[in-house]
Amino acid sequence: MRTIDHFIAGSAGGGATRTSPAGEARFGDVFDPNTGQVQAKVNLGAQADLDRAVAAAQAAQPAWAMTNPQRRARVMFNFKALVEKNMDELAHLLSSEHGKVIADSKGDIQRGLEVVEFACGIPHVLKGEYTQGAGPGIDVYSMRQPVGIGVGITPFNFPAMIPLWMGAVATACGNAFILKPSERDPSVPVRLAELMREAGMPEGIFQVVHGDKEMVDAILDHPAIAAVSFVGSSDIAHYVYNRGVAAGKRVQAMGGAKNHGIVMPDADLDQVVADLSGAAFGSAGERCMALPVVVPVGDKTAEALKAKLIPAIAALRVGVSTDNDAHYGPVVNAAHKQRVENWIQTGVDEGAELVVDGRGFQLQGNEEGFFIGPSLFDHVTPDMQSYKEEIFGPVLQIVRAPDFETALKLPSDHQYGNGVAIFTRNGHAAREFAARVNVGMVGINVPIPVPVAYHTFGGWKRSAFGDTNQHGMEGVKFWTKVKTITQRWPDGGVGDGANAFVIPTMG
Ligand code: NAD
Repeated sequence: MRTIDHFIAGSAGGGATRTSPAGEARFGDVFDPNTGQVQAKVNLGAQADLDRAVAAAQAAQPAWAMTNPQRRARVMFNFKALVEKNMDELAHLLSSEHGKVIADSKGDIQRGLEVVEFACGIPHVLKGEYTQGAGPGIDVYSMRQPVGIGVGITPFNFPAMIPLWMGAVATACGNAFILKPSERDPSVPVRLAELMREAGMPEGIFQVVHGDKEMVDAILDHPAIAAVSFVGSSDIAHYVYNRGVAAGKRVQAMGGAKNHGIVMPDADLDQVVADLSGAAFGSAGERCMALPVVVPVGDKTAEALKAKLIPAIAALRVGVSTDNDAHYGPVVNAAHKQRVENWIQTGVDEGAELVVDGRGFQLQGNEEGFFIGPSLFDHVTPDMQSYKEEIFGPVLQIVRAPDFETALKLPSDHQYGNGVAIFTRNGHAAREFAARVNVGMVGINVPIPVPVAYHTFGGWKRSAFGDTNQHGMEGVKFWTKVKTITQRWPDGGVGDGANAFVIPTMG
């Protein structure tokens, strides 16, 4: 069986170096969610593997930081071309471990490439500030310097995009970057590291270590690692944030989500249903920017929306990832399938109306695959646990709101604050909503408002811990430290020193 290994010091391999108390290496199962079968083993690393990666990073980073930014950007240009050349292979590999359909895998890779394109412009964004003559003969300037060695810890649901959110910006800024991808779909991250190397990245600058909690803890405690960027579920994000900050690191930790779509009475319902179908069920609902909650304003809107949603859901095609006509594929593994189905049962037990039940779905010929049919709930209320928590599956919940203010309050009061959307033809309502809603990313008639690469991605409340977002200038800020220099070049004479004992001012 294929073993997926770390990518350390410019090459894959090295075998399992873990010495557990029993002295044995550990491996995790990597499934093909379409068949339900184990297709590979991933080497679950430990401290010794991380130490090797850190040593390679320490050896390479100073020279990389001194490499002029235009040359660093050239690696990004080369990498982009290589990923595009290998797009089909990468998309198939991604789908085979994640389960999303091929077109969606290409979108995952493409969104990552857009951050690489942003990183191609790094010489421009790294320019500092300058003030000439801030005092007599005094100039002040600032420079952005890399933090040193940074780590990205990523979730299973975007195995190309999220590693590139972090890794492209971190390395373009002059850091050495170590990626700890999800152990559930680890192959594409290794391919990305190989392609970075082929693109001209020095060995030790873009590396991959695999593992689970043991590796994450080793990362959080490692004294040579200066910054950790995490994306995953909220409890773990919070843990990573606290432990990393306690160890003196710079940490950003993005967490879970429960995004709402507000449907105003004047919305174009056919458009809303088309948008919602993709946003709620695309990628089997395994997106942090999915729209799993829809809030129709007024019962008339709710009834009309529900009437249109039912046939739209019936028309959804669930299939294997290589089925070009499938709208979505299986969820990532059996445990997650069970978890989603448990949430559906909880919704029923809490008294919500299960309008469409996706449980028990089996795909002919792939009966062991991790497929779940689409589900629709109506009359979900804010006190229900199935509303408060993230389900992360193909389940859409209707929460009815009598008016705009109630609809605005629902996402604003929810524990998560990643994304939200409003569907309306009324510019005033949309403007008011965008200004007042307590959520980080807002779509106006845009169901999945993931900002473009040169803007910035990040939620509020329990959807993100830390102060800086991913990519765009926020990403550059996270991966760099600002140094400010105040300079004077005296022309020979020694000043009278009269004021040498008071705090210098420019007055
Ligand atoms: P996860 O939290 O299970 O795993 C994320 C990472 O943490 C993985 O690398 C994993 O190996 C590691 N990890 C798992 N258990 C750990 C533990 N006990 N201690 C330390 N590290 C641990 O998340 P997932 O299931 O892979 O991804 C889905 C979650 O990610 C969802 O909650 C989703 O909303 C969230 N997500 C958020 C964003 C965002 O930008 N806010 C983007 C994508 C996904």
